[in-house]
Amino acid sequence: MQRVLFHDTIFGPIHSRRLGTSLGVNLTPNDGKICTFDCLYCEAGFNSQGPGTGGLTPRAEVRQQLEDTLVTMRGDGMGLDVITFSGNGEPTIHPQFGDIVDDVIALRDKYYPHAKVSVLTNSTRCHDPKVVSALKRVDNNIVKLDSAIESTFKALDRPCDPTLTPGRIVEMLKQFGKRCIIQTMFVRSPHLDNTVDDEVEALCEAYRAINPGSIMIYSLDRPTPDHTLTRVSPDELTALARRIEEATGVTVHGY
Ligand code: SF4
Repeated sequence: MQRVLFHDTIFGPIHSRRLGTSLGVNLTPNDGKICTFDCLYCEAGFNSQGPGTGGLTPRAEVRQQLEDTLVTMRGDGMGLDVITFSGNGEPTIHPQFGDIVDDVIALRDKYYPHAKVSVLTNSTRCHDPKVVSALKRVDNNIVKLDSAIESTFKALDRPCDPTLTPGRIVEMLKQFGKRCIIQTMFVRSPHLDNTVDDEVEALCEAYRAINPGSIMIYSLDRPTPDHTLTRVSPDELTALARRIEEATGVTVHGY
């Protein structure tokens, strides 16, 4: 069974095609996964592996570990483009998410003032005003929307709340407007394909309704727990990007 990728609260730095030199902050357990989605493509594996034993890292520990890492990196003369909340699940489920965002911004200002702070979120907790407020304080609020068609959304992202619909996600994301970057994973399997005309048209309608700062599209580049998925080629992603830009007037990047 494919299992979690990150075994530390602070991980990296790693070079990310989409984000540059990135130091990761994993607020979810180091030995298990907790997420409000259970995406077929999740690099951390399926939720069925369990939440592990470590629990959510307390705020003070996150702050201390991040500060120690930034001091070491700066002492070694290393550059840093971005500090990214990601990891083995959904970062916004941490009850102290907003306070931790403030700690990370303060440490960024102290040690790497030119670095950005990014959050990769699956958008499901944007009904919580505290989460929304924290996401508005970061430089790159990267929110997931993989399909605007309910059957595909449910088959691909597999929300733990069976009543959640893409329409509700879109309504929540409208709160951000330009203060979000929408991230969409394009994939195919024998059972679904979010690159077909109906899917792209529905996504474009959702993008127009949200009116984000930009859109980031990508496909698979690591093993996935569902082995039926196949990646969409770079040429196809380029064509999708042009089509989405024409339909929405929003810049598309990251493919
Ligand atoms: S939202 Fe992210 S962490 Fe959660 S299941 Fe999907 S890919 Fe994995």
